[in-house]
Amino acid sequence: MSTQATEAEAKRVALVTGASRGIGAAVIKALGERFEVHGTATSEEGAAAVSETIKDAGHSGKGHVYRAGNADDLARLTEALPAADALVCNAGISRDGLFVRMKDEALSEVLEVNLADPFRLARHYVQGMARARRGRIVMLSSVVASTGNAGQANYVASKAGIEGLVRTLAREYGRRGITVNAVAPGYIDTDMTREKISDKVREELLGNIPLARTGLPGEVASVIAFLASDEASYVTGATIPVNGGLSMG
Ligand code: NDP
Repeated sequence: MSTQATEAEAKRVALVTGASRGIGAAVIKALGERFEVHGTATSEEGAAAVSETIKDAGHSGKGHVYRAGNADDLARLTEALPAADALVCNAGISRDGLFVRMKDEALSEVLEVNLADPFRLARHYVQGMARARRGRIVMLSSVVASTGNAGQANYVASKAGIEGLVRTLAREYGRRGITVNAVAPGYIDTDMTREKISDKVREELLGNIPLARTGLPGEVASVIAFLASDEASYVTGATIPVNGGLSMG
């Protein structure tokens, strides 16, 4: 894939949620090659760091404070950035636990950040895309959406919801030139996995991954950048696995 921006793409705007760390931070670097790129973080310091990352990379755009489920934040974000040519719903959390002990808050928080927020952002940004008759929406799922994962009932339900949402939006907006896809990473080396996976579990996991290693944020970001590009014009409603071969077939 060429990383050269086409003349039309160079003027376009991309919004990436959860851009302060992990996969999202890699996505703003990858998209900055082609788009004016805007990224969100939940704090002022995080948003300033996103702005810094964009500037240091020589790209244009900035960081915004944005907390999923906060109506004021959504109003501020959509006022500052009313339209986007590409939307990457990347922000995500996990609150794991045994199913019968899982509290309502662990369910509602995870569904809010991982599913309801992408739903609302897409509902806003798809309108400008529909008027422009082009657009790209990419949402983050997970390998566990299709395999299931004990101890992650809330998280898995949220990610399976994302895959259904993506297929539905792809059907509703295909005729408007908008593609909507999901990327389903396996085990990527970020805070999310570092904090949760013990050394013992990590060893077991690596034994099940044909590439015998965890993935890097940049290896997910490059697939997202492809899906956000003009070159991915005939890919929609898909969930692309980026998991080192962990789940095949
Ligand atoms: P990280 O934990 O490294 O980063 C999470 C990002 O989401 C941060 O930018 C964080 O902002 C933001 N965020 C957290 N809570 C909220 C909130 N309430 N509102 C808005 N933004 C919030 O995550 P990863 O990079 O690992 O994951 C990115 C996506 O990929 C997620 O959707 C995740 O589910 C998915 N994924 C990750 C996998 C992995 O192995 N890492 C595997 C499969 C899927 P702040 O820094 O301000 O807290």
